[in-house]
Order: sequence, then C-alpha cells, then structure tokens
Amino acid sequence: MRLFEAIIDANQRALAGDAEAGLHLAEFADALPVAVLTCIDARLNALFPGVLGLPKEQFIWLRNAGNIITGPVSSTMRSLALACAVKNGREIAIIGHTDCLVAKSSIMKLTEAFRALGVERAALPENLLDFFGLFASERQNVIKAVEITRGSPLIGPRIPVHGLMVDIATGQLEWVVNGYQVLEQAPARRPDSLGKDNGEAIGALSGMAGFQLGEMKFPTSKIGEYGAGTGDLIGEGIPRVEVPPRLGPTPAAGAAPAAIRPPPPVPGRLPLPPRIRPTPNVRKWKL
Ligand SMILES: [Zn+2]
Repeated sequence: MRLFEAIIDANQRALAGDAEAGLHLAEFADALPVAVLTCIDARLNALFPGVLGLPKEQFIWLRNAGNIITGPVSSTMRSLALACAVKNGREIAIIGHTDCLVAKSSIMKLTEAFRALGVERAALPENLLDFFGLFASERQNVIKAVEITRGSPLIGPRIPVHGLMVDIATGQLEWVVNGYQVLEQAPARRPDSLGKDNGEAIGALSGMAGFQLGEMKFPTSKIGEYGAGTGDLIGEGIPRVEVPPRLGPTPAAGAAPAAIRPPPPVPGRLPLPPRIRPTPNVRKWKL
C-alpha cells in the first residue's frame, strides 16, 4: 500500500471506530514530505495535517480560495513546483472540501459582496468566472486541478498528483483521483514529448511576463512554513526523511501499526494550539 492509499485506509478505519488506526511513517519515508493544496476555509485549520495522520514537518501546505488551479504555470503551480524542487516535496495532493463557499458563490453574490466592500463592478475584471475560477462542483474542481497539475511542465513527471475530498464536518477522506494509478496507466511524459496538450503551457512559459488575466492572485502560504524543524533543504542534500521520534518502535511483522500520538514538547518551539475535534470518532486519528 502506498502513502495516500494508507492514509485513506487508516482514515476509514478510524472513522469506523478502530482506535488503533494510524500511519506507520517509517514505511513511507521515500514519499515524504507531501505538498498539499487546500482551500483557505478557516474550518480546515483544525483538520490539517492531523486528518492525514502526518506531522507538520512532513506537510507542505499551500492554500488559495477554492483550491483552484487556473493554469499550468499559474501562481499556485509555481508554488507547487517549488514545493517539490526546493522543499523536496515527493507527492502532491489537491484536497477539496465539502460545503466550499467558493462553489456557492454566484457572480451576482460576488458582485454584491464586492460592492459592499466599496469595490464597484467596473473595477473588477470582465469575466469574473474565469478570473476567480468559480466552480459549481467541488469534486469537478479537484479533477480539473489535478489534470492541469499533471500536465504542467513545471511538475516532475514521476511525482504522483492526487485528488481528494475531505468532509469538513467529519474529517472523512475520499479518493477523487488516485495519482499512482494515473502514473501507471499513462507512463510519465517527458518534457520533449509533451504533445499538443501542453503546447499552451509551453507557450505560456515562454511568453509569461507580469500579470496574466485569469490567473489567481490570492496569496499562498510560504512553502514549508510549518516545517521549521526540518531545516532548509537547499544545498543540504537531504534526500531521505527522518522518522519522527514520537512514532515509537516499529511493531513486529504482522502487528497493527501504532496509533499516532501527540508529539512531545520540544524546547524552544511554540506550544501547539488547542485541538478542535469535530466528532468523537476521529479523535484517535487526529494528531
Ligand atoms: Zn472552500
């Protein structure tokens, strides 16, 4: 079982009441850290990265309104690319969530909201749908984002790009696109054989200059800002991930993996914020 397959399996077992459900990170060191794009919805603050069973040190968190990717060389794509090239991200996941307000925002609602903020319609781009990347289906939005990312010339052809949904009330994860299967079904394309589908992307790369209409301009989190404990990977040549000490000893073959425990306090670090647990049955799974 590969990393995100194990994550979803453990998530399902935890939701089913398995108090021992957890992720044995030592088995997935080659897949860590992961770069994850989510929405800016503040309700997600309490879910990640615990809902994935990952420690903060292995979780590179990128966010924008609606976890939208507008193009193969968009601002968010550049951050995802650097998350892999600079911060050593091994896998990418785009995780949408239920009850996303971006999916519920009509042009009329948005125009009225901006007007209430003192921004008149004439000051906004003509095509608000394109500019803000508004969507009607959270799942379809994830599928589109994964497709654009998979086809981006900035993303390594062997990096799995997954699509998931998370239930914002329960923390339940659901596959939308299994990036491992996509890689197996379509062998990684090389940059010199990208084909016509990526012609637009290559053209955009060569002609990119300054602001592009239709490109999301919401700020994203600094890459690796939650990974202070791992140090700067630039030039350090750290290809492997160290196993966090809180995981405890490796269980004997056949034994169930140990449940993830809260990390011990580390001198010199800020204390972790209090944890909100939306439902009792995900308590063990969340960090
Ligand atoms: Zn949202």
